[in-house]
Amino acid sequence: MLRRWSVRSKLQLGFGSCVLLLLCMSALFYTRTQELSHSAVLLVNSHESILHLKTLERELIQFGLEPRDFDLQLVNREMERLLSLSESEPQQHERYLRFRSLLKRRLRPSDPSGMPRLGDDIQTQLELLLNEERSLLQLRQESLAYGSDNNRIGLALGTLGCALLMGAVAGMVHRDLARSVQLLVQASRQVGQGDYSFRLTVEGSDELISVGEAFNTMAAQVQGEREKLLEAQSELRASNLGLEQRANELQQRSQESLQLQQLMELLQTASTLEEAVKLLGPRLSRLLPGGCGALYFLNTARTMLELSGSWGLEEGIEAAFAPEECWGLRRAKEHVVPAEQPELRCSHWGPSQPGWFSCSPLLAHGEILGVISLYYPEVPHESLGLLLRSITEQLSLALANLRLRDSLRQQSIRDALTGLYNRRFLEESLQREVARSQRRAQSLSVVMLDVDHFKRFNDSYGHEVGDQVLQSVGEYLQTAVRGEDVVCRFGGEEFCLLCPTLKEPELSIRLEQLRQGLESLSVVHQGERLRITASFGAAICPEHTSDGTQLLLLADQALYEAKRGGRNTYRVTQEPVKAQTGGERFSL
Ligand code: GH3
Ligand code: MG
Ligand code: MG
Repeated sequence: MLRRWSVRSKLQLGFGSCVLLLLCMSALFYTRTQELSHSAVLLVNSHESILHLKTLERELIQFGLEPRDFDLQLVNREMERLLSLSESEPQQHERYLRFRSLLKRRLRPSDPSGMPRLGDDIQTQLELLLNEERSLLQLRQESLAYGSDNNRIGLALGTLGCALLMGAVAGMVHRDLARSVQLLVQASRQVGQGDYSFRLTVEGSDELISVGEAFNTMAAQVQGEREKLLEAQSELRASNLGLEQRANELQQRSQESLQLQQLMELLQTASTLEEAVKLLGPRLSRLLPGGCGALYFLNTARTMLELSGSWGLEEGIEAAFAPEECWGLRRAKEHVVPAEQPELRCSHWGPSQPGWFSCSPLLAHGEILGVISLYYPEVPHESLGLLLRSITEQLSLALANLRLRDSLRQQSIRDALTGLYNRRFLEESLQREVARSQRRAQSLSVVMLDVDHFKRFNDSYGHEVGDQVLQSVGEYLQTAVRGEDVVCRFGGEEFCLLCPTLKEPELSIRLEQLRQGLESLSVVHQGERLRITASFGAAICPEHTSDGTQLLLLADQALYEAKRGGRNTYRVTQEPVKAQTGGERFSL
């Protein structure tokens, strides 16, 4: 603490005391000097009085010797002077007065000669006066010497007092200065060590206090600047954090975009819509983390949405539901259900736990393709909405393209009348199946089928009935073969079957089954059951040949054999044949 009574006050007090002391000393010295000068005057008076007495004595002695030369005026003048000089000494003055009376009496003329005679008493009195003056002179000399000594001692004591006082003041000032400087140094160190709130306690208003106040002002400014700096630093840190978060978000968005792009590329490369749908489930779960979800697609009959894939939803998930059960599909737009409005939840979710739900329909040209249903126990990040919209938009577009491509492809490989694969597809498949059978060292049977006397149906019942017969044969064949077999309409009333892994004797058994099946096929026209039979010819790869075109040719030759054998029968190529040309009919 820098106190009020510090340096300036002490200096003021010290100098004030010195000045007071000096004033007192001056007054004392003045008085003493007055006294000394008075003593000196008295001393001079004494000297002068002695001189005058000597003059008087000489005159009077001369008068005693030669009365005629006596100078009365001189005597009177000397007496007057002596009286005047002895005014400050009443006793001596009294003596002079008595002496003058005596002298007047003695000098009165009583002698006939006219001249008085001086008595011895005058002489005695003069000597007495002279002695008195001498005593006075000595006294005054002593008094003057004493006064002078006193003055010297007083001066020495006063000077010493002043010096001591000044020394004491200087000591106190030094102590205060040292203490104050130490306080300032300590305060500076404290502030330097980071305690910016440290302040000196100041009272009063001298220079050191001003220094203390200036220090406090400086410390306050430093503290203020530091607080501003810290504030700026914290703002900078917050801004950096914000930027970091933004960068992370951007990175996440970029990753999501990349994943979505990769998904779209994958969908582009998918050969069928079905294949694409299988790819979607696990990838969507990666794209939409932190929650649960399911992907439904509208079935071909367009009656139900069937579960294609799900993540995080093991229990209670609907395998299929009608489009009416979903608000998203009914409204044909995203339907979000906040946790606090469970009544808006779609019924296909069933009695599920509380949380956040959404159903985003996948639409293509206004037609429903499917729906992405999500469930989050907590409200998801707001960026999910944007991501979900992006996914559904791109997915809808990709799936619509895929569906269109699927449809175009189906149109290009399917026969419009029977829905079976066409000859073009057969040619593609035959090459593939031959290669596969060779790779796997398995057999591949190729069966050619021709409806017997088909022309008669056209001729007897009309072309439409002929078409109906062809459709019925196609449906039968589709259901009668195995899943891995390929059924094609080769052209007209001819069909071709590719049966991987099938060889004798199972081939003959299968051909007989097919023959019987067709024979027992019931096609009714105007109440009349139409009897349908067909002839079959088959060849086996690699037993008969490993060339696709030759396989078809051999199967066709076997069919021809069956026709020649009376129709409604089958023939299998008996032995390998050398390559033959089948003309344009079987060129692949
Ligand atoms: P075969 O027992 O010897 O096979 O006698 P077929 O009458 O079945 O054979 P043919 O080659 O003489 O007659 C085939 C007929 O099939 C000729 C053609 O008009 C008819 N046809 C071909 N394509 C179609 C079709 O798409 N619809 C209809 N209704 N008839 C077709
Ligand atoms: Mg034919
Ligand atoms: Mg025929």
